[in-house]
Amino acid sequence: MADSVRQNDELECDVLIVGYGGAGAAAAITAHDAGANVIVMEKMAEPGGNTRVSMCSWFNTPPGMEEQAIAHIEALCLGRTDRSVIAAYVEASSKNKEWIESLGATTKVTRLPMVRYPQVTHPSWPNFPGADAMVNHTVPAERDNERVGERFWRLLEGQVAQRNIRILLGTAASELLTNSNGEVVGAVADQNGRQVRINAKRAVVLTTGGFEFNEEMKREYLPVTPFYGIGSPGNTGDGITMAQKLGAQLWHMDVVVGGFGIVTDEAPVPFGISYAGPGFVYVNTHGQRFTNETGWEIHFAWQALSIVDPKQPGFPTIPIYGICDHETFQKGPISLTGAGYGIGGKWSADNSAELAKGWIKRGDTIAELAAQISLDEAALEQTLTRYNDLCTAGADTDFHRSRETLKPLKAPFYAVELWPRIVNTMGGPRRDAEARVLDTKGKPIARLFSAGELGSLWGHLYCGGGNVGEAIAVGRIAGENAAAERPRR
Ligand SMILES: Cc1cc2nc3c(=O)[nH]c(=O)nc-3n(C[C@H](O)[C@H](O)[C@H](O)COP(=O)(O)OP(=O)(O)OC[C@H]3O[C@@H](n4cnc5c(N)ncnc54)[C@H](O)[C@@H]3O)c2cc1C
Repeated sequence: MADSVRQNDELECDVLIVGYGGAGAAAAITAHDAGANVIVMEKMAEPGGNTRVSMCSWFNTPPGMEEQAIAHIEALCLGRTDRSVIAAYVEASSKNKEWIESLGATTKVTRLPMVRYPQVTHPSWPNFPGADAMVNHTVPAERDNERVGERFWRLLEGQVAQRNIRILLGTAASELLTNSNGEVVGAVADQNGRQVRINAKRAVVLTTGGFEFNEEMKREYLPVTPFYGIGSPGNTGDGITMAQKLGAQLWHMDVVVGGFGIVTDEAPVPFGISYAGPGFVYVNTHGQRFTNETGWEIHFAWQALSIVDPKQPGFPTIPIYGICDHETFQKGPISLTGAGYGIGGKWSADNSAELAKGWIKRGDTIAELAAQISLDEAALEQTLTRYNDLCTAGADTDFHRSRETLKPLKAPFYAVELWPRIVNTMGGPRRDAEARVLDTKGKPIARLFSAGELGSLWGHLYCGGGNVGEAIAVGRIAGENAAAERPRR
């Protein structure tokens, strides 16, 4: 039930949830089922956040493999996340499948087959200890052309609606309210230019997502610039700012999942690159290869762009150019548009529309291609000749690309300009195993909880499926604990 605050500009509930994506929905359902009167506020006119545009692959620890899962996540987090937080997540995530099925959906194991080159591995880091415990699931689409994230969102939203939980759309929280004891007692929000106040007798749960669309935070905290978001434009780090004002400690602000993509003036977010065949290389602004193109874990491919050059200000690998040959070009679309905000289904099956629009440049010779993308002709010639020689020799002694992906490039050539592209950020207020937000001394801020990618537990590397899995698992922890707070008098 979505509505506005009409009578007076003040409302009351037991538990206020700020941000209506996957974590907010899970927290709302759980708090409601625990007997709390819940209000959810969402800044955007449409709810769903990143959850709704995601690939909806979520992690479920198989029964009996909890210790392996904890070991795996600890190895990925490099000591930046408390073991107790990881253990609580693993325990809750082992019930993700059961919980989703209890809401009336079917689930299945998924392996994201849609990603081709660079290839996706499952789990993301198979050589790290405990990797076998990372098993991803999804809620399959029910209709032709339905995106899985949308299907998952329909399920969550339907469950919230069935419970008659009050939803305030177009309502952006700007400040958390506290009483003289320092307890969080509600929030102030902007609704269509009017200020509204929502009092929460038990607790507030922050589920405002990341900061993919806050340029200042990205410049400050992320390792490369510019970094284009592809998720919900509502994710501007508001929860971080609000929690910071109450003295929250921040963590994982530099951790980001992403790769690179094609920026256009047509789509609101960049298209990801995903070649259908191995006949491609990446070159930097000097026309040189700089990396093993197929060697990066898909969620961390952006790291290839973080190289600096002592002889040149800025980043020599921003932007880069993806160059493929005709065979790979013909094999299928060089971008798959299964997820992201507002980009679904807009890339042609044979890349012809994008060639006609000039998003893809073509050259019958290396010289012609170099001119099209303003790269040094001699450098590009040298790079592609060297690459072809390495392919013929069957060993990439320059960047150690695997033998089966080494394929000489034959004219004509096709190039796209590629920029860093964020899937999502992880940083935000630090939380404990009970999803309580901690202050700079490690003490819980009274009656303030958080869940989801706002202050996510992923502290260094990330395993695919870990974010949606966390949103719904920790969302339930936060909702349950928020509802269990003693009501203020
Ligand atoms: C294209 C894409 C694909 C992805 N695929 C996967 C995947 O397959 N598996 C996986 O695990 N993860 C995936 N992720 C990441 C994952 O979707 C998210 O990390 C997760 O869904 C976050 O859930 P959340 O509820 O924390 O945040 P969100 O779902 O982003 O919701 C946050 C909500 O808070 C709202 N909000 C923000 N500020 C305010 C405010 N001041 N007041 C009120 N509301 C506010 C936002 O508008 C938004 O609706 C993907 C992300 C993207 C973008």
